[in-house]
Amino acid sequence: MFTITQFPLPYATDALTPYISQETLQTHHGKHVATYIDNLNKLIENTPYESVSLQDIITESANKPDDKKIFNNAAQIYNHNFFFAGMCPNCNTQIPQEIIDTFGSEQKFKDEFKTAATNLFGSGYTWLVRDNGQLKIVNMKDADTPIVYNMKPILTLDVWEHAYYLDYKNKRGDFVDNYLNHLVNWDFVAENLTK
Ligand code: MN
Repeated sequence: MFTITQFPLPYATDALTPYISQETLQTHHGKHVATYIDNLNKLIENTPYESVSLQDIITESANKPDDKKIFNNAAQIYNHNFFFAGMCPNCNTQIPQEIIDTFGSEQKFKDEFKTAATNLFGSGYTWLVRDNGQLKIVNMKDADTPIVYNMKPILTLDVWEHAYYLDYKNKRGDFVDNYLNHLVNWDFVAENLTK
């Protein structure tokens, strides 16, 4: 039987301080994501989903109302894995040239990304995706995820309140600024751009 297991964080839980506290990271990765994994393993037990990959669970359960819980938990695991992999402590700060060329400048990219992330009403993720070859910043609500729409994910920021509320309270914009200026793993982004 295929069991979804917790992916390890690619850095220590205190590695992203002061921009994301150890308490936030421990709760976010160790409690929220762990709960999605527990839920999904229970939901797929003795179903056809038990024998396919996480990505296939997501694409096969999408748009099936009876499987909404399976989709939500599976997509949350995928989205969080992408979010955590897209950050690092003391990262390379070299933003890929394709992003500069597409959005006009590094600052214009960051401004557009921040506007999207602060305008997302409620819970969800702001994504940088490649859609039909074109780089775009898109918002997705709740657990929704680009792979359902044949978009290639490049980077994502989790703007559910659990991602920042302990550290920033209601100031989501400050969280987005620190994320863009101090936490993005541009090597991960560059690698995704070439895939
Ligand atoms: Mn989250």
